[in-house]
Amino acid sequence: METPSGARAAVEELLDEVEAATEPRPLMEVGGLKGKAAIVTGASSGIGRAVAVALARSGVDVAFNYLGDNERAHRDADVTEQSLAAFDVRVYRRTVDCRRPEQVNDFVDRAVQHLGGVQILVNNAGIGRDRALWRMSDDEWRDVLDTNLSGAFYFLRAVAPYFRAQEYGKVVNISSIHALKSEFGLSNYAASKGGLLSLTRSAAVELGPSNVNVNAVAPGYIRTTRLTERVPPEIMDRAREGSALGRLGDPQDVAGAVLFLCSEVARHITGVILPVDGGHLA
Ligand code: NDP
Repeated sequence: METPSGARAAVEELLDEVEAATEPRPLMEVGGLKGKAAIVTGASSGIGRAVAVALARSGVDVAFNYLGDNERAHRDADVTEQSLAAFDVRVYRRTVDCRRPEQVNDFVDRAVQHLGGVQILVNNAGIGRDRALWRMSDDEWRDVLDTNLSGAFYFLRAVAPYFRAQEYGKVVNISSIHALKSEFGLSNYAASKGGLLSLTRSAAVELGPSNVNVNAVAPGYIRTTRLTERVPPEIMDRAREGSALGRLGDPQDVAGAVLFLCSEVARHITGVILPVDGGHLA
């Protein structure tokens, strides 16, 4: 049984780890991505930032959006933009609410103009509003479904004409292991991420004939600053102990899987769900 001081020590340790992990380690070179252009949603922080940086490191031009409803979000987006600027790629950044289809359509069109095309979409923007379902408000339910599921659909629908016309495209949707195995208080989140898996399969079927791969990554607990702030240390400890590898993931662990799925190495893989969870589901 964890004592309160033991729990505090665990939080300190996690924060140390997060600080140490802000600069992602170089990833394996998967090749074949140089010169492509990607849209990464919600790349101001965490997993989205790691994915955007990994793509840029591979020579991919990057357009990214974020919600930007507070000062911290803009500062976070500045960090992403500066990280991307270190690579010789074009960067396009905007605040776009993925719940608003008209904003999404406009962003995608402008990103295509700015980058000269688009070949990759990573649907990463996501939120959690955890609560027991009998206490959950309409807004908590709607916000999570609108952001995590409808937002991904709006982006997918907006890039589909470009991908179909060029008969090429890669889509990676960032789902969650909670789409496959839920926990208390996650009815809205698990439903949104489960819906995203079904959307992934449907889109793979519809876009496959146009040579478009659509896959999903299902991360387990990943050490992002915001997750560490939001999730009680006991749950983080349980997640660490519950994984076969005995550790939490890093954002760059997810970025590596995304890079693989965007590469030609994975050209015959579509409609799959790839858990990146350290064996949490094993
Ligand atoms: P963060 O909170 O660090 O980042 C979320 C990103 O989404 C931010 O850029 C945020 O923008 C953006 N965003 C939120 N709402 C909207 C919106 N309405 N329109 C546009 N952008 C929006 O999250 P993580 O990096 O931890 O998670 C990223 C994804 O990975 C999410 O989909 C999450 O569900 C999933 N995931 C995360 C896991 C984890 O352990 N961290 C585990 C499994 C899945 P802003 O900064 O402006 O708020």
